[in-house]
Amino acid sequence: MKNQYPKSSRNIAPISLVLLARVRRYFVAFAIPLLTLLGSCNSKVSPEVDDTALRNADSDVDNWLTHGRTYSEHRHSPLEQIDESTVDRLGLAWSYEFADKRGLEATPIVVNGVLYTTSSWSVVHAFDAATGEKLWTYNPEVPRGYARFACCDVVNRGPAFYKGKVYSGTLDGRLIAVDSKTGKLVWETQTTPEGKAYTITGAPRIVEGRILIGNGGAEYGVRGYISAYDAENGELAWRTYTVPGDPSLPFESKALEKASKTWSGEWWHLGGGGTCWDAITYDPELQLVYIGTGNGSPWYRRLRSHGGGDNLYLSSIIALRADDGELVWHYQTTPGDNWDYTATQPLILAELTISGAQRKVIMQAPKNGFFYVIDRATGEFISAKAFGNVTWAEGIDTNGRPIESKEARELKDPTFVRPATNGAHNWHPMSFHPGTGLVYFPVYDGAFLHLVDSVQRYYPRDFNTGRNFGYQGPEIAQWETLPISGKLVAWDPIGQKEVWKVEQPLPVSGGVLSTAGNLIFQGRADGDFSAYRATDGQLLWEFNAGTGIGAAPITYRVNGIQYVAVMAGWGGAEVLWNSGFGQGKVGKGRLLIFALDHSSELVMEEEKIIPVPKPDFKLEVSAEELAAGFSSYMTYCGRCHGANAISRGLTPDLRYTTTTTHEVFNKIVLEGVREVLGMPSFGEDLTTKETKSIQAYILGEARKAAAVASDID
Ligand code: CA
Repeated sequence: MKNQYPKSSRNIAPISLVLLARVRRYFVAFAIPLLTLLGSCNSKVSPEVDDTALRNADSDVDNWLTHGRTYSEHRHSPLEQIDESTVDRLGLAWSYEFADKRGLEATPIVVNGVLYTTSSWSVVHAFDAATGEKLWTYNPEVPRGYARFACCDVVNRGPAFYKGKVYSGTLDGRLIAVDSKTGKLVWETQTTPEGKAYTITGAPRIVEGRILIGNGGAEYGVRGYISAYDAENGELAWRTYTVPGDPSLPFESKALEKASKTWSGEWWHLGGGGTCWDAITYDPELQLVYIGTGNGSPWYRRLRSHGGGDNLYLSSIIALRADDGELVWHYQTTPGDNWDYTATQPLILAELTISGAQRKVIMQAPKNGFFYVIDRATGEFISAKAFGNVTWAEGIDTNGRPIESKEARELKDPTFVRPATNGAHNWHPMSFHPGTGLVYFPVYDGAFLHLVDSVQRYYPRDFNTGRNFGYQGPEIAQWETLPISGKLVAWDPIGQKEVWKVEQPLPVSGGVLSTAGNLIFQGRADGDFSAYRATDGQLLWEFNAGTGIGAAPITYRVNGIQYVAVMAGWGGAEVLWNSGFGQGKVGKGRLLIFALDHSSELVMEEEKIIPVPKPDFKLEVSAEELAAGFSSYMTYCGRCHGANAISRGLTPDLRYTTTTTHEVFNKIVLEGVREVLGMPSFGEDLTTKETKSIQAYILGEARKAAAVASDID
């Protein structure tokens, strides 16, 4: 209950002293309205959130001060006004509609009655957390052409707050510091080489006066790193690369020199990968920062590191010294990553009693499908068990090494492997409830068809995964028949077993919040936002958000009222790619705030499905050009506009392209005349001939869809 109204006492003290002096006898009667007054005056003031406040975030029950609520990132709140007996009275208190339909993935921060969040294109917003009044917006004006470097949509996972400033990463690689009261920029710094395929989608974290920020881009071919900047002036304090660079140059550290022995060939040309695009946690007691690192660039080891090897520190949990970023220990979840199995997924710190001994552990459920418990002081492997359907490895041996499948390692022919490249669990935040001792997270089950290119091609500004995206063999049709599913699980990290599960109608669902009210809150792909009983998974409450939810909810309290907040907006890689995992409701992005005994209603947009019209525009191409058009489309266009020219509504479905637009197709693709709308220029990547074949492919797909539509009529 500490820090409940820290700064307001300075503003209000003289009045309250007078009040207290005059009405001392009625103090008890005045106490409640006075506290309310203090709270409401306080709601526009940003207090000092310093290192002490962050360390004690768990006892500050009103606020949600940092990404995972506390440094341990439990995403668990001690608030219990909303509990298993009252949750049926929960209703919408207020909502805010964002400008577009792109995916929302942010975890908001709440500091004394003000809620800070981020939306697509890295825009930062501040709201009165009780009333929904918009206080300010800061738009960093990300150049829309940067969309091409975002593997997984123009999303942002949230801001950080420290000493009166709001910090956020931008898609184009900047770290920005904004005044929390005015919404005005204080400083910004470019954290990535401009024009290179790096992006920031992850949330910054505060570590002893510094802002830690990573980046993404391993699908394109970059070298992963994490940076620490001075919170006051944005000066770089340290930077730690996760994979070795060109060995003819001096290594940046002993750790990287050691890592270079686990690589072969000329990996550095494509960067190697290992980007730190999401998980960062800090243990103030051990003075260690834990980072999850990403997949290899390219995905396939035989293209990346011809002679094999573990390829450190890809797909690893690495522990860095907080003050200088030196590597202290590492644990590699997927040695010699070959399947896009990042270990960037959320990291939770906890104290667990294992075999009678109290252990300081770090827990993770990365993409590879195994739940890991690691000693966070030493990096010692404690245990791991499969939480999903896994075919790449039979299990993890007592030394912490996976027992690999030969077929999945070799990928000689087109091969189905589970989990798929989007993982058995991805960025969707998980929670740890200290009361139940369980970890709650969404699990997805699906296969990916791995098709390794015979040689590594290089596309300077596009995917360099080494997968042949233009493949049209019979396995593609077979893939569509393979089962795909999703569930919310409660996992016992000591017993390494599932305690309960809730099967979900669509494969991917959102991040999780747990509360002392014995509740788990979670949204999902179809727009349902639910509360479950933490102990047994019983569904207690649900709300239709009108758009799919991937982001994790938070909870906070203002003037004694507990609120639950969630960013609702369905997006991300799977939606853009139109894969089975992307199934979900695309709609207007919204911030939704709930409290007991409220009943605001959402205005839902009507869904209209317009059949694809038969295109009038004519283009003469040969069968070979048409086939080349499919391959080029899948390489350059499909990632945003959807596989097979079918979009799910985040970006234009190109089959609906009008004749007027077809007439300027070259100008759009090669000259960037629609760059302000988010369509990058491909003038440096595609020839006029290739562009024509892409256009012909799109027209062909439109004609096919129009024929189906007229058959239905
Ligand atoms: Ca990846």
